[in-house]
Amino acid sequence: MVAEQLEARGIRDPRVLRAMSETPRHQFIPPEEQERSYEDQPLPIGSEQTISQPYIVALMTERLRLKPDSKVLEIGTGSGYQAAILAKLAREVYSIERIPELADRAIRWLESAGIRNVQVRIGDGSQGWPEEAPFDAVIVTACAERLPEPLAAQLTDGGRMVIPLGPSHNQVLTLIERRGDSLLSEPICGCLFVPLK
Ligand code: SAH
Repeated sequence: MVAEQLEARGIRDPRVLRAMSETPRHQFIPPEEQERSYEDQPLPIGSEQTISQPYIVALMTERLRLKPDSKVLEIGTGSGYQAAILAKLAREVYSIERIPELADRAIRWLESAGIRNVQVRIGDGSQGWPEEAPFDAVIVTACAERLPEPLAAQLTDGGRMVIPLGPSHNQVLTLIERRGDSLLSEPICGCLFVPLK
């Protein structure tokens, strides 16, 4: 997976490549899909949601430029796999999931994988996690029509956010960077995510 899907497509950050080779993706995939854990595609994880294709996880993670002391917010815990990757690259990860069954299962799967620096909360992630703000990085793994204001407000100065934006049929993975009071925005690529509700 790492050589053929990530390195071959230009993922270069050695820390991201290492985190992805050290994290058993099959531990975050439901039993009925487990054989396909390392395939080059998204997979269903129940409740009509999906775990992203490995390349997209790597690309989003790389663009966040995490440091070992970073504090990260994830919106859309889903399986917990993206949170597990973030946890290996940053100090603390806060992750919000609106579907309780997915959140509860992700907590169990993260525990079984030995990951201790992720906190999962059930709720509407578009409001962010004000009690823990500001964050050095924010990653949104569901598509929003417009940038949710509270998330931008919870970025540190110099903080980076990766978020799919736009209508469901024309989504653009976007990098947002806070510089003082202004927000810089840069398109990364087209993408296809489940909607942010
Ligand atoms: N990052 C996940 C993929 C998640 S799919 C993984 O690694 O597996 C997107 C997730 O976002 C779904 O689980 C969905 O329930 C959740 N979601 C959608 N809208 C949300 C919202 N407003 N707040 C929190 N979670 C939301």
